[in-house]
Amino acid sequence: MIDKAMRAKLSTRLKVLFIGAVILPAAFLSVLAARAINREEAYVEKQTAQTLSAELVHVVGLVNAGLEAVGEELGRTVPAVWSDPADSFRQWKGASPLVRTPFLVSPKFEILWPKLSASASEDEIFFLNANREFVSNVKEIPVYQNIVLAYRDEIAAQTAAPVRDRTAPGSISLGGAGLGTVKAEAEAMEKDASSGMEAAKVSRKIDAAAKPSPAPPDYVQTQQALKTFVENESLRQQVYQEAQLRGQDPVRRTVSPSIGQAREDAADRPESIYISEPKKFEAIIAGRDSGLIPRFLGEDLRLLFWKKESDGRIAGCVVDPEALKSRLLSRLPEAYSPSRVLAVLDENGRPLTAPAGDSSRDWRRPFVSREISELLPRWEAASYLADPGLIRSRAHVTAVILWALVLTLLISILAGGSLVLKTVGSEMDLARKKTTFVTNVSHELKTPLTSIRMFAEMLKDGRQPDPARQGQYLDLMVSETDRLTRLINNVLDFSRLDKGRRPYVLKPLEAGRLVTEIVEGQRVRLEPNGFILGLRTPAGPVFVRGDEEALKQAVLNLLSNAEKYSEGRKEIEVEVDLAADERSAFVRVLDRGIGIAPAHAKKVFQEFFRADDSLTSRTKGTGLGLPIARRIVRDHGGEIAYAPREGGGSVFTIRLPRSEGP
Ligand code: ADP
Repeated sequence: MIDKAMRAKLSTRLKVLFIGAVILPAAFLSVLAARAINREEAYVEKQTAQTLSAELVHVVGLVNAGLEAVGEELGRTVPAVWSDPADSFRQWKGASPLVRTPFLVSPKFEILWPKLSASASEDEIFFLNANREFVSNVKEIPVYQNIVLAYRDEIAAQTAAPVRDRTAPGSISLGGAGLGTVKAEAEAMEKDASSGMEAAKVSRKIDAAAKPSPAPPDYVQTQQALKTFVENESLRQQVYQEAQLRGQDPVRRTVSPSIGQAREDAADRPESIYISEPKKFEAIIAGRDSGLIPRFLGEDLRLLFWKKESDGRIAGCVVDPEALKSRLLSRLPEAYSPSRVLAVLDENGRPLTAPAGDSSRDWRRPFVSREISELLPRWEAASYLADPGLIRSRAHVTAVILWALVLTLLISILAGGSLVLKTVGSEMDLARKKTTFVTNVSHELKTPLTSIRMFAEMLKDGRQPDPARQGQYLDLMVSETDRLTRLINNVLDFSRLDKGRRPYVLKPLEAGRLVTEIVEGQRVRLEPNGFILGLRTPAGPVFVRGDEEALKQAVLNLLSNAEKYSEGRKEIEVEVDLAADERSAFVRVLDRGIGIAPAHAKKVFQEFFRADDSLTSRTKGTGLGLPIARRIVRDHGGEIAYAPREGGGSVFTIRLPRSEGP
């Protein structure tokens, strides 16, 4: 009973260990993996967006380089001598296809060319109608500027001294200026803002010889401002508000990139990184020598090139929009790749070249896009997914692979865990069995020793004068000594079992004689205890080759079991006979005892195994008798087997190869 309770306690402890060390970590791991895998689609989308954005940075760089080249070409080809403007301009137009409608303005902003005369061309009349008031310095036009550059110092002040809820006149309110989460929208703005920087760089390069031009923005400071601007949503709103208060209009972008800001309504397009402020011609060109001015005529964007001449006059031209587009286009990478479609969109959201057969695409809803330059307001570099379902299917494939890996891992953890626990369990079981074994052995040794001592003392004291009785006592003492020897041999053999074979002294033995000796030896003890002991041997001699002591031990072990596990019907039979083919000899021990449950029939030959029934638990035993008997029999080239006996009880059969006699 104690044994059972102990075993139950052990297995509960192992179960707790298994749950704590294997099941819980594995479950936790699966939950983590499931969450990560479910986010796979968003992750793949973000990664794709990053890759495509990186390409757009490159494209924006190319367009800006194109703009720089355009400004440089116009500055290089503009005629220096103006004795005959008509002639000079003809030359200029001949020198560069970028020149559409040239103009000349006096230092006092009087238009010297084109003249409203009968000979004026259509372009020239159109130019005068559209730009007369602007180039005469009468009317203001919106001038575009990157908001981060315009408010760099104010934004930088936030980074340097992040004070909350301070509102000072002339400074930006700092309310709620904590670091916001970096949103995809903000990231998109960051990228656009940096493209704005490039544009600013380009316009500075075009205004090469600018005299009092503002000091170039310190790169680190600008990057800091950008970071703050991007990360801080409320600050961003305040900067836009402040800009509005100062009369600078926020501009809406032409497109609604689908990543990060899924705006359904095209009218609700994201804010541009550029703000516009009305300025007169004189203010725009102040402090610079030449430059490009973006100018909207209705919905169409035109670039005006201007350059100050040495005599103070200003020569310039309307840049030919088609020539400009083809110049910029020639620099762009291939529009179509297997994964994406690349386009540069003009101020009306149309691609510079609409590839044939791609008319159905909604150009205003790219996957990712970037603004290009303050010189090309509302222009965007945009990227579209060639196959919009690609992200989902790619995420799906990755998810399937990841799930397969996670499942393999989980199975390995569970299998490994169970294996380790099983090993630990059986080790603990073995340790427990060994402890029980030691207790049992001491008990088993005590019983025959007590008998021997008792009979020896009786004989010594002469308390039994009957010589027949005396002989019986001596037989009993011999029988108990046999039992003791068998027990000690069992224990000794057990320690030898692992280390290799025990040394056998082999010689031809007559099986009938051997078994008779054993049975008769035990009869003196068994019959007084109520056993009926039967013995059957063949008529002739049956020889086997073996070690007498070892084989005796094996048979005695069986006989001892038949005795121990018999209740009620105490009948034991021992048989020796020949196999039908006469090649083997059989030794059988049959009893009418408790028998062995089918589930235990194989296990009884395992070391320390003891069946789980009430008689076994009441009977002392080592669990070594049968394993040792099997080892000995096998070492003799034979086999031992258990079979249930018809009518109840057990039959243990030892088969040994027959041999020649001496
Ligand atoms: P022990 O008898 O010392 O426990 P054994 O190895 O001899 O060890 O036997 C193993 C187990 O097999 C016993 O504990 C018992 O449950 C079962 N067994 C062996 N022989 C018999 C038998 N003749 N009848 C019923 N059960 C038996």
